[in-house]
Amino acid sequence: MPERKNNKTKKTCSFCGRTEDQVNLLITGLNGYICDDCAVQAYDIIKTTGLLNQEKGGDDRFHLKEVPKPHEIKDYLDQYVIGQDEAKRYLAVSVYNHYKRLQQNVSDDGVEIEKSNIIMVGSTGTGKTLLARTIAKLLDVPFTIVDATVFTEAGYVGEDVESILSRLLQVADYDVKAAERGIVFIDEVDKIARKSDNPSITRDVSGEGVQQSLLKLLEGSMVNVPPKGGRKHPDQDYVHVDTKNILFICGGAFDGIERKIAQRLNTHVVGYNSVQNVRKIDKKDLMKYILPQDLKSFGLIPEIIGRLPVLTYLNPLDRDALRSILIEPKNSIIKQYVKLFEMDGIELTFDEDVFDLIVDKAMEYKLGARGLRSIVESVMMDAMFDVPSEKIKRFNVTLEYAKKQLDKAHLQKLGTE
Ligand code: ADP
Repeated sequence: MPERKNNKTKKTCSFCGRTEDQVNLLITGLNGYICDDCAVQAYDIIKTTGLLNQEKGGDDRFHLKEVPKPHEIKDYLDQYVIGQDEAKRYLAVSVYNHYKRLQQNVSDDGVEIEKSNIIMVGSTGTGKTLLARTIAKLLDVPFTIVDATVFTEAGYVGEDVESILSRLLQVADYDVKAAERGIVFIDEVDKIARKSDNPSITRDVSGEGVQQSLLKLLEGSMVNVPPKGGRKHPDQDYVHVDTKNILFICGGAFDGIERKIAQRLNTHVVGYNSVQNVRKIDKKDLMKYILPQDLKSFGLIPEIIGRLPVLTYLNPLDRDALRSILIEPKNSIIKQYVKLFEMDGIELTFDEDVFDLIVDKAMEYKLGARGLRSIVESVMMDAMFDVPSEKIKRFNVTLEYAKKQLDKAHLQKLGTE
């Protein structure tokens, strides 16, 4: 190492060769030294092996404390997510059972509770991800959200499904035991549906193949996971993760699935009782009749559907729901803007009819609650630019002002979806 020759009297780090005045701290060993940077790097490498946690007997952060009851889970979700009662109840029960399963003592009576992975179907912006995120805040198990669109079959460009477990390991701080009882939310699972209901002869890189690989994870198997998404060091081993106890929650918009539901309902209403049934069907909200076979018609393989036994749906958001979302949740969009202004010492208020205008626009753009933020952003942009430089204490948004701002913002661009 050149430093050693030039600075014979100076101590150097045996790993990077930097001298003691080039580093913050140099720790002395028997035959050498290690600097603070190299020590941190070494620690990171050990962490990815899971060795640290094995010795400590697991990370305290993820030890199960008190199990929240389904009612408590739902009450908590209610604070942040408007409506979607059915999905909340299903989620609450599944998560509660997940905890119970983790605590079961199998040897007692031979009854082993199997996990029930969940699939949530609902159009974009209805709160699927929000539900998953909110529940994650409440739990003390490792939790991660992944997007199914990035996955391809092993060997193709894109990510292998095993990377899901790499992420879970990361959030669990490489505590394998903790990761093995974690929860994974797989978003946009409809995007890996095969393109037609018939099994294809040609390869479908992003569809069926991915579903097959995903199946392995859902079923519960030993998976070799490259630590940190790839092996950085040749001597770094794969981490073995058992997915048996990992709870998978899948979400997807399944655009057009209503047509499949309608088709099925129509074919079933022939004959006895049919007239009554037809009358009862709520054509506006077909989603609530969703059954596993509709997922199959959409292009999920039966094996995957079998591994996602809890099927629930999210309602499209109506005017009232959108209005509530705008104002009511603990973290509502309007509360966030009021806070932004408050930080400049300005009291921000809105005339009630401004909310109606915003909701009208959101309904028009059909983006669910997703549209709300962009609309409020357009209304508030000029004010956010100007007001901090003006010496005012209060800013009230009137209907007239909001309309003017929206016209100006050429919001029609938003309506393309
Ligand atoms: P998706 O169903 O497409 O996953 P998201 O959960 O990402 O939708 O919702 C997008 C945004 O819309 C969220 O950040 C949230 O602010 C808002 N939102 C959607 N649905 C609801 C709801 N039911 N209650 C409260 N906010 C919601």
